Amino acid sequence: MAGDRLSPIVNFFAGSRIDRAANSRADDAAMQAHLDHPNRRLVAVWRGRHLMARLGPDRMSVVMTTPDALGLDPDWMDRLPWTFLGLDEAGPLLAVDLGALDDPPIPAATGDAWSFEELRPLAPLLPEGEAALLAQARGMLHWRATHRFCGVCGRPNLPEQGGHRLVCAEGHQHFPRTDPVVIMLVTHGEHALLARGVRFPPNSRVLSALAGFLEPGESAEEAVAREVFEEVGVRVRDVRYHSSQPWPFPGSLMLGFHAEALDRALTIDPHEIVEARWVTRAEVRDHAAQGFDVPGPTAIASQLVQSWLDEG
Ligand SMILES: [Zn+2]
Repeated sequence: MAGDRLSPIVNFFAGSRIDRAANSRADDAAMQAHLDHPNRRLVAVWRGRHLMARLGPDRMSVVMTTPDALGLDPDWMDRLPWTFLGLDEAGPLLAVDLGALDDPPIPAATGDAWSFEELRPLAPLLPEGEAALLAQARGMLHWRATHRFCGVCGRPNLPEQGGHRLVCAEGHQHFPRTDPVVIMLVTHGEHALLARGVRFPPNSRVLSALAGFLEPGESAEEAVAREVFEEVGVRVRDVRYHSSQPWPFPGSLMLGFHAEALDRALTIDPHEIVEARWVTRAEVRDHAAQGFDVPGPTAIASQLVQSWLDEG
């Protein structure tokens, strides 16, 4: 591990390459200089889809382009929600929400190379730093879209600080939010507990780690213990933090843990869990023959399972 890395594990949707330049958000002159920069570029989102360029059969890239290339009117910054993302080596990057447009703007000259695409199925085809950039853009624009009015007085919210703060006419301030989720691989001796939730896609064969939202007044470790007991009736101890992952569907932070079960008796909550199984490392490695799939590599659950496999 290189000495200057933040941590041994950088999960997918983390590891953004840009400088968020957070110190310049509250500096009006510095922010204006970003917005007036000749190489200011947009990361465009249209109704949850992202403007991407197809580079090959299994390679996509995030399009970072100018307002002119997208055919936006000169007053677009007054009409469309946008937020300052930060700086890459070429200059400032902004996210813009084009959802108010009836059709997504795609320059004719790009042919089929540019298109607005769903992130989830195509994320594995993006460079990791670009997936992280879209996680930031999605999270910020989702927050904007769901906080158009002040939750205190009901007046409209207006953006400040490059879109990183919302303020109403009464002066009530609102800041970007992230919803923390705990995700945990529960083990007992040589077994780990994998489960399929009711919200998994129909016909999915994936078995994954258990997960759930934190509640106010609860530590992450306490949320792990509560969720595991609620979903499968198992008591745990020795809750150990593993790593975290931005999860932009729409705006969560996954906090990954391992935990040790006191025993293997399961009492499954059918409102949450379709199937739960104790599996051995050999069964996970041979999962296709065992009749199940494991989480894909972009999910933190995959890292939790892999680190457990590596221990055995
Ligand atoms: Zn207010």
